[in-house]
Amino acid sequence: MEVSRRQALTAAAGVAVGAAGAVGAVRVKEHLDESTPLPFYGSPVSAIRPDRSPPSAAGASVVWSGPGDRRRVALTFDDGPHPDWTPRVLAALAAEDVPATFFCLGRNVRDHGELHRDSVGRHELANHTFDHPDLGRYDWSRCRDEIQRTTQLMEKTYGVAPTLFRPPYGHLGGAALLAATEAGLTSVLWSAQAREDLVAGRPDGIVDDIASQVRPGSIVLAHDTGSDDRLITIDRLPAIIRRLRDDGYAFATVSDLLATSSATATTPSHT
Ligand SMILES: [Zn+2]
Repeated sequence: MEVSRRQALTAAAGVAVGAAGAVGAVRVKEHLDESTPLPFYGSPVSAIRPDRSPPSAAGASVVWSGPGDRRRVALTFDDGPHPDWTPRVLAALAAEDVPATFFCLGRNVRDHGELHRDSVGRHELANHTFDHPDLGRYDWSRCRDEIQRTTQLMEKTYGVAPTLFRPPYGHLGGAALLAATEAGLTSVLWSAQAREDLVAGRPDGIVDDIASQVRPGSIVLAHDTGSDDRLITIDRLPAIIRRLRDDGYAFATVSDLLATSSATATTPSHT
């Protein structure tokens, strides 16, 4: 019965059916999921408040990179602050005189917030949720709770409220986008990243791999805590910075990188 149902569904969708193997099963599952309606309101992908009340913002801001007209790049570090590697990252940035943006977890600000006591005014501290859930599975109120708790704690801890938000895993559903936007936050993804999995066995390759992805305005994703393979990047941070400098890049926080775009956008076209 299960096979005939699969075949019927898959054939109805116009997909060639071979043996009822894993690939076919995955396709059928996708079709079954697609054919199940999500709730009109209140699901993770809904960008409308569940009670249909008006949103408090007129429009959202989502960025993957900054303007491409200058050779500037923003290094970003997610998931800290944590005693394991955050101090090493901060020391490397200080030694090279480079600003960066840290997308912090609320729970780590609560437990290790003092690690960034000297970062305010030098680096940018931003919101990466409290507990790092997959917001692609959270409705609006849970997204809002994750974001608000983190912003409130960061403001209390550092005296400055974050203006940027990065959704864990880059999973940005409508509910998360609405919640972040209503909290006054720009949602920041990335356009280049430390791909430690690609250079396993030849860790020095991380320098070339990052440099090969970077363009003017790139936002680079890295992590200042997490699994051990991320040490590939942490260990080579000075080499990565020097390589990008050799390629002609200057470094900026994400907000500074983006501020350039609004300045450029407001420049009269005749100048
Ligand atoms: Zn993360």
